[in-house]
Amino acid sequence: MSEDIYDLTIIGGGPAGMYAAFYSGIRAMKTKLIEAKPQLGGFMWRYPEKMVWDVGAVGPTRCESLIHALEKQARTFDPTVVLGQEINDLTRREDGVLIVRSNCGAVHYTRTVLLCAGRGITELEKLRLEGEPQQDWNNLYYTVNDCAVFAGKHVLVSGGGNAAVDWANDLHDHGAHVTIVHRRTQFDALERNIERLYEHAAILTPYALHQLQGQNDDITHVSLSHSENGSMQQFTVDAVLINHGYKRNYDALQAWGLHMGDYGIIVNESMHTGIPGVFGAGDCVSYGSKVRLIAGAFNDAVLGVNSAMRYIDPNATKMAGVSSHHERFRERNLQLRSLS
Ligand SMILES: Cc1cc2nc3c(=O)[nH]c(=O)nc-3n(C[C@H](O)[C@H](O)[C@H](O)COP(=O)(O)OP(=O)(O)OC[C@H]3O[C@@H](n4cnc5c(N)ncnc54)[C@H](O)[C@@H]3O)c2cc1C
Repeated sequence: MSEDIYDLTIIGGGPAGMYAAFYSGIRAMKTKLIEAKPQLGGFMWRYPEKMVWDVGAVGPTRCESLIHALEKQARTFDPTVVLGQEINDLTRREDGVLIVRSNCGAVHYTRTVLLCAGRGITELEKLRLEGEPQQDWNNLYYTVNDCAVFAGKHVLVSGGGNAAVDWANDLHDHGAHVTIVHRRTQFDALERNIERLYEHAAILTPYALHQLQGQNDDITHVSLSHSENGSMQQFTVDAVLINHGYKRNYDALQAWGLHMGDYGIIVNESMHTGIPGVFGAGDCVSYGSKVRLIAGAFNDAVLGVNSAMRYIDPNATKMAGVSSHHERFRERNLQLRSLS
């Protein structure tokens, strides 16, 4: 790979990374966006079917549409987008240029880095049943891409957090008959969603999945064991949806000398990590008033990009000018007006 030095290299292509790629374009920074997965979108791909209401101005939108809109915006100024590379090494050359390396041996040169790694390289907590070999069941799900598939079916949801309770409610709204099983007696989710759950779902607590049984790779029955007394129950099911959470994994970043707190990389109010030229944004960072929402990721991204810009050029303005009056959009605005 040629030694092409970028102003800003963004690591992670979720909402924070995508918005940073757009905003750094307003600042005319030469930008590269690197994502470990084969597509941009980040954690939002865990709930593509959900309606998202709390992103400013967009109104209720299917999450998948939001991902596509964000990606389109991210590509406004044609940043270099690299997919399928997990970044796991950062070093600095004598002239201050940062060298970022990926798991496949690729090397990237950059003046600044914006870490937008979310929860890191997340892994779903997969179902592991004692004494049962892993099997690729056709109707065992870890996320839902299309709720309509479950209409009229008996679905067993396993899990007790927000995601499990939300899916149980959503699947009911799409005509599924829902049973939810949780190893504890209390659900750890929003109160109003738990109330809704109790209105429609068959609730089995404290129970845990014990065995899946079926034919031709289709689960037809599940057995559950009582978490306290071990008594067993058996159910007929059409589908099983597992929501046992995600493992955060910052292993790839651990060795960089970042200050890690309980909830991520500690940054100051300028999104500075403490390593010269390295900033953070989105769910991977931790500071006093951090908001773990898409809107919070956007705000962090703006702050992080502005700080990176000022690291490269201390005389640069504190923030980019507002888009409504920005020279970078003049030609585009003329084109858009001529089309309308
Ligand atoms: C079930 C659920 C529902 C939610 N609903 C909402 C909602 O309705 N509204 C809302 O505002 N928020 C919601 N959120 C929160 C929202 O999804 C997050 O706040 C947001 O995704 C954070 O964006 P991010 O870009 O910081 O991180 P992420 O979206 O996690 O993206 C990080 C990206 O970085 C990549 N990455 C990590 N490490 C590396 C590496 N070493 N090299 C290369 N790439 C790397 C990952 O693959 C990932 O794609 C929800 C969260 C959950 C769990």
